[in-house]
Order: sequence, then C-alpha cells, then structure tokens
Amino acid sequence: AKVTRLGPSPTGFIHLGNLYGAFADERLAHQSGGVFILRIEDTDQKRKVEGSEEVVIKALDYFGIHFDEGATLDGEKGEYGPYYQSNRVAIYQTVAKHLVEIGCAYPSFATAEELDEIRQKQEVQKLVPGYYGEWALDRNLNYEDIETKIKAGEPWVLRLLSTGDPSETMQVEDAIRKSVQVHPNNMDAVLLKTNGVPTYHFAHVVDDHFMRITHVVRGEEWLSTLPIHLELFEILGWDHPVYCHTAHLMKMDGDTKRKLSKRKDPEMSLSYYAEVGHFPAAVREYIITLANSNYEEWHQANPEQPLEEFQFSLEHMSTSGALFDMNKLNDVAKDVLLKTSEEDIADFLINWATRYKEEAAPIFNRDRDKLIKILAIGRDEKKPRKDLEYCQQIFEFISYFFDEWFTIVDELPENVNAQAARAILTDYLATYDQNDDNGNWFNKIRDITEKLGYAVKMKDYKKHPEDYNGHVGDVSTVVRLAVTGRRNSPDIWTIQQILGEKSVLSRLQTYMG
Ligand code: GLU
Repeated sequence: AKVTRLGPSPTGFIHLGNLYGAFADERLAHQSGGVFILRIEDTDQKRKVEGSEEVVIKALDYFGIHFDEGATLDGEKGEYGPYYQSNRVAIYQTVAKHLVEIGCAYPSFATAEELDEIRQKQEVQKLVPGYYGEWALDRNLNYEDIETKIKAGEPWVLRLLSTGDPSETMQVEDAIRKSVQVHPNNMDAVLLKTNGVPTYHFAHVVDDHFMRITHVVRGEEWLSTLPIHLELFEILGWDHPVYCHTAHLMKMDGDTKRKLSKRKDPEMSLSYYAEVGHFPAAVREYIITLANSNYEEWHQANPEQPLEEFQFSLEHMSTSGALFDMNKLNDVAKDVLLKTSEEDIADFLINWATRYKEEAAPIFNRDRDKLIKILAIGRDEKKPRKDLEYCQQIFEFISYFFDEWFTIVDELPENVNAQAARAILTDYLATYDQNDDNGNWFNKIRDITEKLGYAVKMKDYKKHPEDYNGHVGDVSTVVRLAVTGRRNSPDIWTIQQILGEKSVLSRLQTYMG
C-alpha cells in the first residue's frame, strides 16, 4: 500500500499542476489500498493568504479527489497530525535539537550583508554561490562564542552541516524518470529560520518521515534541491520515500511549446474551470489522459468502465511535459456529457448559473423541464449529437430557446432576399399548426417550396439553377432563421415543439416585421 500526500502552500492559488499531482497521489494511494494525506504547508507566514486552505479543500472535492487524512473544512482527521505545518513546530524543533546534538546542524549568525559579501566574492572567483565549505564561517564557532552571541540577542538561523562532495555524482531512483543523476549536497541549507520556523527542505523531510509517506509526487522544480533532502534523510537514519518528480505541464503558444504559466494562462488556475463551468468529471478524465499516455487506449477498449478501474502508473507519466490542449479537453467533455443524464446536466447548469451567471439562474430554475428537453435533443439517435462541452458554452449554445436571450445572429441565405423571405414566412405562418407531426410539418414546407418556385430536390436545383428561385434548403433556412436566429440548429420541428406555439408565432411575426 502506498501513502502519498499533497502539500499545498496556502497562497490563495491552486493550479492545474497541483491538481495533476493530486490526481496521481490519489490514484497511487487508493488503487493500492493506501492512504492519501492533505498536509497544509503553511510555514511561510508572509505568503500565507487567509482562507486558502478552504480553497484547496473545496477544489479537491469539486474535482472528486478524496483524501483520507489531513485538513478538512471542520478540523482535521487522521492519526498522524497535526496536518498544518504551523502546528508542528515543536516536532521540527525536537528533530533540530537532535541534529545539533549529533553535530550535524549549527546556529549561523551571518547577517544579510555578510551573506551578500560572500556572494559577491564567489561571483568574482566564478564559484558556485552559497553557504558551504570554507565560506561557511560559522561552522567553526565554538560553544562559548555561540552562547555569548545568543545571549546578546543576535539573530541566528539553524543550518545543516553538510558533508557531501559535489564533484561526485550519484544515481537516485525516481519512479517517473527511472533514475536521476545528482551531485551530493555540500550546501549548509537553512533548516530553521530566525523565528524558529522550518524551511520547506527540513519540514517536509520530517513530516514525510513521521507521516510514513512512501511516495512523494512533486514538481521537477524540486530536483535541484533533492540532494539536500537525501542528505537529511541519511543523517537522520531514515529511509527516504520514493521520489516521483513530475514534468511541468506544457502548452503550444503558436508554434512553440512552453510551460503553462500561472501568470500568463488563465486555464492554469482551477477557479477558471469552475467559472466557465467545466464538468469536474470531464476535467478528471482529461487529467488522466494527460497523466498516463496509455489511458485513452484503455478507455476506448473499456468505454463503460469508470476511470478508477484503470491501473494508473508513474512509469507512464511524461518526463518531457504533457501537452495541455483546451480543444482536447473539450472533446473529452463532449464524450463525458453524452454519458451524463439531461437531468444531471440541467442541475449542474442551474448550480453554475446560480454562482456565475446570476441573470440565467431564475430562468433556468423556472424552466428546468424545458431545459431538460433542450439538452435531450438528438441524444437518443444512433449517432447522437456531441456538442455540449461546458456551462458557458452550453449557455451560449441553447440561449435562443429562451425569449429573454433570443436574437437574430445570422443573415439570410444567398438565394433569398428580404422580400422573398417574407413571402416564405407568410405562407408558413398561414399554415402553421403546433399539432403537426414531423411528417405533416415537412409536407407543408415542401408545398411552400413548390408554390414559391424553389426546387424540392437539391439535385434538380444543381442541374438547372436558372429554373428556380432556390431550393428547399433555402426555404427551411429562412424558417430556421426566424425561429432560432441561426442558420444552423437541430431539427426545426423539434425546436418548435419545445418553444411552444406562442413563442414560435411571435418569433415569426417579429422576423417579418
Ligand atoms: N509546499 C510545496 C509547494 O507548494 C510542496 C512541494 C511538495 O509536494 O513537496 O510547492
């Protein structure tokens, strides 16, 4: 069984990369009968944004990623807490004391100016910048000096006394990359800051050990400091977890492939998906196609199986960066929505509108039954229509069904001018009967077509266009345009059934002016 954790820092922002990692954590834990922990890494009080744990917890819940232990909306659950790093400071300090006692950590009094000076000298000598080796002056302070300085109230940090030789190389197992080559650490990394609070390097090592984490899934930006973490585990005599460094998600920007950016790409923020109303099941499904390249093939072979049945594996995660593509997400969404009932889509849409589209919420609520009928159009056919993607898109797609939003967006077909259109609609209106079935309805269209000199058969028109005013498609397009405002729509008869007589007649009359 695997034990994994998500360690978000509560900076008020949770992004697609976090979700990608969380998804891997959740799958690894749950498909092995293990445990997935949510640990809030809130030691950096400066970056902390009030209420952002809540954002994380709600986002995970929204996307159906369930954890077993950790921070929840009301308190914590689990036996390995506290799950907020800010409540674990006594634990870090205990381990820190132990490190001092065994001679592997020491207080360092170097001021910002002194550190700067060291950096400048290192730059001149073209050396690697940092506090290490002979540059780490405080390594040699004796006990009395230290005591005097501390008593005098000089600020200090606790540093790791590193012993690695960076000229050597070593191979470290990585479950995604198979193995990575690193250089042993020689940096005296800060373990506790001046305020006694740990750095990420120290805190996560301590937590991952005591929380019995077996697999750490995290971004590749941590590869460079991995040697520090490995050294800490070694000094402490603890086994390190299996590391799984994920590659950044990428996107195409014109012809170039680049990292998805928190700053530049709105789709990087998870709130974006809620705002435009993506269905969580669709996002989940897309995340897994990004995470495991073999998922799509499996899904095609097992279309009815839930994704939980798929054997997720770290070996199938990309090492060069999976390519995030909105169009692909929308395609996945179309498939997912085809399998979602109209009732569920309607309710999701209503909830979305309630939060993000205030003007639509009362209308959707009032017309829930109508909404369900609209969403059902074309679904029971052999080759059902797949055109619903996400709420904002669905809203735009179906808005013409509601008189409140109905507008004419398209122009008349080429063969038909305004006068000809009026002639068509006059006849249409004269014979319109809401109770016509689809067959009767079409017969009437054909009669009008013939009567007004349009070709009933497309092929006749194509052979001798000079003999006709246009063809049956032009006639129905005029009707479609008057009734829906568009030249393309599902079956007109079905739409009219949903709209109801009053609305159909008023639209026809309005169009005729
Ligand atoms: N708190 C770290 C972050 O927000 C977590 C990294 C990790 O998963 O170890 O990036």
